[in-house]
Amino acid sequence: MTILDGKQTANDIKTELAVRVDQLILQGKRSPHLAAVLVGNDGASLTYVGSKVRSCERIGYESTLIQLPEETTEAELLQQIDRLNANAAVDGFIVQLPLPKHIDEEKVLMAIDPDKDVDGFHPTNFGKMALDMESFIPATPYGIMELLRRYQIDISGKHAVVIGRSHIVGRPMSILLSRKSSPGNATVTLTHSRTKNLAAITKEADIVVSALGVPNFLKGNMVKKGAIIIDVGITRVPDSSHPKGYVITGDVDYERVKEKASFITPVPGGVGPMTIAMLLQNTYLAYSRHADV
Ligand code: NAD
Repeated sequence: MTILDGKQTANDIKTELAVRVDQLILQGKRSPHLAAVLVGNDGASLTYVGSKVRSCERIGYESTLIQLPEETTEAELLQQIDRLNANAAVDGFIVQLPLPKHIDEEKVLMAIDPDKDVDGFHPTNFGKMALDMESFIPATPYGIMELLRRYQIDISGKHAVVIGRSHIVGRPMSILLSRKSSPGNATVTLTHSRTKNLAAITKEADIVVSALGVPNFLKGNMVKKGAIIIDVGITRVPDSSHPKGYVITGDVDYERVKEKASFITPVPGGVGPMTIAMLLQNTYLAYSRHADV
C-alpha cells in the first residue's frame, strides 16, 4: 500500500511555481496576483482563505484578501466583483463559498469574468472542461488528477466510482476521470444520496473518490482489495482532547480501508493541500494569458 502524499506533492508544485516566479522577477516582470473575496466570518472559510493567501506569499505571488462583513448585500458583492474583473493588476480571483444565505451564489459565480475564474466554476470554464478544451479546472478534482499523474497511476479502462455529485468536486471529477487523456479513460459511475446499494457499487470499483462529507463513511467492507482510494472529505469532528476542540476527519475509515487499498490519500495531508497548489497553478495560467510571459 502506498500513501499518496498530497502535502509533499503540493510542496513540489509550489516549489516549481516559486522557481518560475523568481525567473519572472529576474526578467523584470511582475509576479502573478491572486485575489480572494470572503464574506462573513465562517471559521472554516477563514482558515481556507488564510492558507490560500499564505501559500501565495510563500511562492512570491501577490495576493489580496478582500474581507467583507456578513451583512454585505448581493449588489455590493457584485460591484466588488466588477472591480476585480476590471483590475488589470489582478490575474485571477476567487469568491470563497459558501456565501451567506441572502446572496445568490449562482448570480455571483456568473458575474466573474471567465478569464479570471481560477476556481473554474463559471459555466464557460465548466463547459470547456467537459469538451476537452483548455480551461480553468476546479482545483480539488484537478489536484486529484495531478496526484494520480505524479504517482504514475494508470486508470485507463478501470472502473472509477465517485461518491457525491457537487458542482465543485463530484461532478467535475466524474468528467475528468472519463476524459480521453492521461490520466483518464476510466469507466465512471457517479453516485449520490439517491444511489441504491452503494456498497455493492464501491465493492466493484478499481478507484473510489469519496466526496460526500460524512466522517468514516467508506468502510473496509465497501472496497475491494487493491483499490485506489481518494478521500476528499473534510469534516470537523468535535474532540475535547484536541487543542482546537475538533479533529479533521475524512470520508474514509482510513485504518480499515488502508489494509485493502493499493493507494490511499490520508486526511489531512492528501487532497486538501493539492487543492491549494492547483489554485496557484490556475493563477499562473491566468497570469500567462494576461502577461507576456
Ligand atoms: P456537498 O455537500 O455539496 O455534496 C455532497 C454530495 O454527497 C451530494 O452530491 C450528495 O448527493 C452526496 N451524498 C450525501 N450523502 C450521501 C450518501 N449517503 N451516499 C452517497 N452520496 C451521498 O459537498 P462538497 O462540497 O462536494 O464536499 C464534499 C466533502 O468534501 C466535504 O467534506 C467538503 O468539506 C470536502 N471538500 C474538500 C475539499 C478539499 O480540498 N479536500 C474541497 C472541497 C470539498
